[in-house]
Amino acid sequence: MQEKNMAKVGFIGLGIMGAPMAGHILAGGNELYVYDIKPAPAALTDAGAKVCASGAEVAKNADIIITMVPDTPHVESALFGENGIAAGLSKGKIVVDMSSISPMATKEFAKKINALGCEYIDAPVSGGEVGAKAATLTIMCGGSEETFNKVKPLFELMGKNITLVGGNGDGQTTKVANQIIVALNIQAVSEALLFASKAGADPAKVRQALMGGFANSRILEVHGERMVKRTFNPGFRIELHQKDLNLALQGAKAMGVSLPNTATTQELMNACAANGMSGLDHSALCQAIELMSNHKIAQ
Ligand code: NAD
Repeated sequence: MQEKNMAKVGFIGLGIMGAPMAGHILAGGNELYVYDIKPAPAALTDAGAKVCASGAEVAKNADIIITMVPDTPHVESALFGENGIAAGLSKGKIVVDMSSISPMATKEFAKKINALGCEYIDAPVSGGEVGAKAATLTIMCGGSEETFNKVKPLFELMGKNITLVGGNGDGQTTKVANQIIVALNIQAVSEALLFASKAGADPAKVRQALMGGFANSRILEVHGERMVKRTFNPGFRIELHQKDLNLALQGAKAMGVSLPNTATTQELMNACAANGMSGLDHSALCQAIELMSNHKIAQ
């Protein structure tokens, strides 16, 4: 039944996000070739994923090759490093980068992949580990419509709200915009809950009350709960959000626009990192103002 839609897919980067996303592609009846610099998760190999020795080997076997690695240099090395994806590509194959990286670098990577007779889509995601596991990710794409339509059935196995925003780089630009909104929202929720807690109100009940009104947001629901319950295991690490705000601030400088609240929130992320919190979930951003105020939202 699935046969006619079955694709040969490569997946590189099997971390918090990549492992469940790759799992959905496999469960969708596709042939899956995987590579990570770390050993592949047993859940994937047990389900039939074929482990390759390099990105080049993945690219030789698969027609659509997905990357989900941390940052711009990791994508560059996965694509163009020794035994990287580019070394195994042949005409007509498609590279899909789902990591969150620099929009400018993305345009360059796409040009180099196009020069090999292959196509490129940038397709970063939002929705976190929860969305990756539940296959409900939001996917923001940049590339040609023709290529997007070829990859769409795979996107539909991993996500729900899937949009082709524009050409290469536009998916990554959308993701940077997303990260600005998320960071500033986390900071807003932190300030509101800290204020309420210091005033003597129960922050858990304040959150509950606000969730019925105009101030509600996914951040109040998910990150607000983490702040109250003090569950800061990642999730989405502070160091990855620092990377994304850095892309926002570098872009703002290059384009000549001002993002004052993004800059302040990045400084608060830096304060968290300076206090040993780089590896914690970004909801731990609340601890920056907790330190400054000498008061915790909850114990
Ligand atoms: P992660 O660190 O858990 O996983 C990244 C994986 O890539 C690791 O297993 C690592 O070994 C592997 N890797 C690194 N360099 C490699 C290379 N050159 N070749 C092969 N494998 C390589 O990170 P993550 O949380 O899964 O995030 C991945 C991307 O998704 C990041 O760009 C992040 O910003 C983005 N993202 C993460 C979340 C989240 O909630 N975690 C949400 C949305 C977007």
